[in-house]
Amino acid sequence: MLEASHRYFHHAADVLGLSDKIRSILLTPRRVVKVEIVAEADDGSLLHHTGFRVQHNNARGPCKGGLRYHPTMDEDHASALANLMTWKTAIVDVPYGGAKGGIDCDPSTMSRFEVERVTRAFIEQIREVIGPNLDIPAPDVNTNADIMAWIMDEYSKYYGFSPAVVTGKPLHLFGSVGREEATGRGVMYALDEALQDQGRGMEGTTVAMQGFGNVGSHAARLIAERGGKLVAVADHLGAVAKEDGLDVPALFAYGREHRTVKGFPGGEPFDGGDVITWKADVLIPAALEDAITAENAGDVQAGIVVEGANAPTTPEADVILAEKGVTVVPDILANAGGVTVSYFEWAQNIQQFRWELDRVVKELEKTMRRAYGAVRDVAKEKEVDLRTAAFVLAIQRVGRAGLSRRSVREEIDLS
Ligand code: NAD
Repeated sequence: MLEASHRYFHHAADVLGLSDKIRSILLTPRRVVKVEIVAEADDGSLLHHTGFRVQHNNARGPCKGGLRYHPTMDEDHASALANLMTWKTAIVDVPYGGAKGGIDCDPSTMSRFEVERVTRAFIEQIREVIGPNLDIPAPDVNTNADIMAWIMDEYSKYYGFSPAVVTGKPLHLFGSVGREEATGRGVMYALDEALQDQGRGMEGTTVAMQGFGNVGSHAARLIAERGGKLVAVADHLGAVAKEDGLDVPALFAYGREHRTVKGFPGGEPFDGGDVITWKADVLIPAALEDAITAENAGDVQAGIVVEGANAPTTPEADVILAEKGVTVVPDILANAGGVTVSYFEWAQNIQQFRWELDRVVKELEKTMRRAYGAVRDVAKEKEVDLRTAAFVLAIQRVGRAGLSRRSVREEIDLS
């Protein structure tokens, strides 16, 4: 996975003509932490897990990035995702660097109390390297507001009241209105911009989606509110489709209750693997990485892919999509709404001041549309696709900040 994100980086670095030395400075993570977690299970036995936190770059501010609880979590995943966070925070121009981490556990097989004990044991181990001005975790796959609350509580035991150490907290515990749906809302704005580029609107646009968790479900709800039609959706347990559009509010409620779209009565079940090649105007991968691969990319029917998930397209698939003329709105732009509202939450915590929802929504929309516009401008100027343009813009911003903080004995043109 790390190799894939590096390939995208190098492609943009080639466009900028960066030396090997500067590439190495920009790609090397500043800190990689791996800890062994031992916590008590409900039956008195011991749970053993490994926790990771990779802080990739902090030239533009404290490190920022989610925590993922998943059996596949390892150093490679944490490093690749931390790397993406550095570029993502630069694209939406929030004052952060990039980080990512998590634990190689499967919360679906654990009790709430076990998840809490494992979380607290993890924070106890990494507390010295996180903090409001150092590194601020947030939710990602299989982590949520409850877990963020435990992190705030555990950290505050050592350092005093510190709500700004973590974002994505519950609303009643210094969370921000609009944070839960922020990534999905940002995906919707990114899609709207891509459609406008093609002289089209959201009304009547058909969408196929993989993943109906935090990102997917909110994106689907907001797209449907603007007249888009969700024609197929798949999650890890099942999939449903309806040619003239699923009833998204009903599906949203069903998904909240059953934690899956499987069995939703308002559509026909199908093999979820087919969602990537479903007949629709737009494909939104919003589950895990490597969803669009060399095997299925050639059969993608959508003309626009908006990457709600992180790293859902392999580099080989990206080439195939480009050859087919598919517009890909890359993850580091499309799903940056989450970190943007995390920044609003952090700013509110530091100021001890609460924003109203309309302010959050307005600022998020402004940030996403401005970021999309900046990426589009680079794409036009350098005659590259949106992904390469996004990396070019991000490398310029991170590189300039790094160079202003510390001189390098080398002439570098980051224009
Ligand atoms: P989530 O845990 O809320 O939901 C994940 C969804 O993916 C679920 O519907 C699950 O069933 C589905 N899924 C998992 N494996 C699947 C498979 N093999 N096939 C089909 N569906 C599968 O997670 P989330 O927060 O919605 O995150 C989804 C993606 O978006 C991840 O790549 C994450 O890194 C990225 N992301 C999340 C945020 C955020 O704010 N939550 C921000 C930026 C990026």
